[in-house]
Amino acid sequence: MIKSTTKKMYKIAYLVLFIMLTSCTSSFSSSEKEIIYHSPDSPARVLQITNKNDSLILRAPSKNIKNVKKNKDIEPLVKKLYLTMLEEGGIGIAAPQIGINKNIFLFTRLDKEENSVEVAINPKIISHSSEIICFHNDGCLSVPDKYGNSGRFSWIEVEYTDQNKQKVTHKFLGGSRSEDYTGIIFQHEYDHLQGKLYIDKPCVSK
Ligand SMILES: [Zn+2]
Repeated sequence: MIKSTTKKMYKIAYLVLFIMLTSCTSSFSSSEKEIIYHSPDSPARVLQITNKNDSLILRAPSKNIKNVKKNKDIEPLVKKLYLTMLEEGGIGIAAPQIGINKNIFLFTRLDKEENSVEVAINPKIISHSSEIICFHNDGCLSVPDKYGNSGRFSWIEVEYTDQNKQKVTHKFLGGSRSEDYTGIIFQHEYDHLQGKLYIDKPCVSK
């Protein structure tokens, strides 16, 4: 009787330790890892809103990535997203667009001279303008053959972890296409993480 109780306790302790270890090192599911590690030097397939199964993933809210500093799956995921964005000619891409419902996206820094592509992990919009502007001709890699206007904040203040695993707080502006519209790209990609698309925010320009 004592022996079997001790055995049971060991089993439970082992199970708890196993769960702790696996949840610390990664929060990506096995099917998400399959996407990340499949042909590491090739782009992924971009999910389309016109496909029923793809649409379920695109419309689902994403979850935060756990233990960002130690998570070894982030770097290969960023590479996969980058290759896919380049292949498709986009200026931003979010993880759900390649089938991964996690809070991470790439966005082009139009506010920087070199227009670098940067990473936002577990981003949050902490403050924004009260004014909504109508951004012309928004487009999305997951909405084929369509362009349309979207209602956006004219500025946002955001918090996220960058590619160097550093916490960043920044204010991005969003104007028209002829100006710096990094803030619009950020809002577009951020919306993907909530399961929203630009077609949900139509607006009529004045
Ligand atoms: Zn999009």
